[in-house]
Amino acid sequence: MIGARREGLALRLQGIRKSYGHVVAADGIDLEVREGEFFTLLGPSGSGKTTLLRLIAGFERPDSGRIELGGRDVTTLPPNVRETNTVFQDYALFPHMSVAENIGYGLKVKGIPRSRRRERVGRALKMVRLEGLENRRPNQLSGGQRQRVALARAVVNEPEVLLLDEPLGALDLKLRQEMQIELKNIQKEVGITFVYVTHDQEEALTMSDRMAVMASGRIQQVGPPIEVYERPVNEFVAGFIGISNVLDRDGWRLVIRPEKLILLEEDEPAEPGMSVEPGVVEQVVYVGMITRFTVRIDHGESLVAVRQNMDAPGRTQGFEGRRVRLAWSPDHAYVLERATTGEEK
Ligand code: ADP
Ligand code: MG
Repeated sequence: MIGARREGLALRLQGIRKSYGHVVAADGIDLEVREGEFFTLLGPSGSGKTTLLRLIAGFERPDSGRIELGGRDVTTLPPNVRETNTVFQDYALFPHMSVAENIGYGLKVKGIPRSRRRERVGRALKMVRLEGLENRRPNQLSGGQRQRVALARAVVNEPEVLLLDEPLGALDLKLRQEMQIELKNIQKEVGITFVYVTHDQEEALTMSDRMAVMASGRIQQVGPPIEVYERPVNEFVAGFIGISNVLDRDGWRLVIRPEKLILLEEDEPAEPGMSVEPGVVEQVVYVGMITRFTVRIDHGESLVAVRQNMDAPGRTQGFEGRRVRLAWSPDHAYVLERATTGEEK
């Protein structure tokens, strides 16, 4: 190995810049991903997630900056000598090959002997629960099964870092949610570092050990899901991850999550120490597990509060137009930095 291995770091990006014409797709990215981590890049379409993955994989060269994998500078190395593998959304399976051949293809190219290959393919099949389907062709599989083949095909190479670009994007919601849990379990089991790209905030929250929220080629915040959700650093992050209520009070900009707001009747007392503001219910949306109330508070802002539907159905009816009060614990109102996605910075 060239150079000293930085303790516990699978990936390190320093000052990465990449432009296409005058589009700046990566605008000075610094990032460290630890070994064995499930790390997610989350951001809206066009925020630079795929570009960053392609730079890490070596399909693109940065205009400037440095990329280290396992402590080794790989900035100018081609993809085939980097310890990475990529899983794309469209899977890109070979249609004329069986499941087993698809999975074993990379090992064959590397010249791994047949018996070794069989053993490793067998293990990979078991891991993604496709035993018994090894002789099928991709077109004889469901979307979820094809996704598993794509994953097995990447993992079987035992890369240091597995790069996944919206791999569940083509699946329907139910299957996607199942695969999220499964992927996470597989990752824990094999211990490979995952760098996972998604634009789906819930997916990022569900799967990640840590996540980076991206906008306009920049990283806005890095942290574990709880931290990013509970303590967003700016308005962009607050708004992109979940519904956030923004309030301007006494020169401060505060954010409060809908589930932290308590909806009170006009004359219903609040717990001591709570902040309370009166308003009018503008809209009530029943969403099965919860009901979402939009309340225009007298101060001017429109806030969303959610209530779990624990009571008998019908309790939420007749709320529109009613005067209510919203209460929250001051601990749950976070002070925001100004967003850095706009003109400034
Ligand atoms: P994401 O994956 O977050 O949707 P991308 O990394 O694909 O974002 O794109 C980031 C920005 O760079 C977008 O504005 C996109 O149009 C631009 N871009 C990406 N790849 C190319 C390319 N090969 N040529 C020109 N512009 C590109
Ligand atoms: Mg993309």
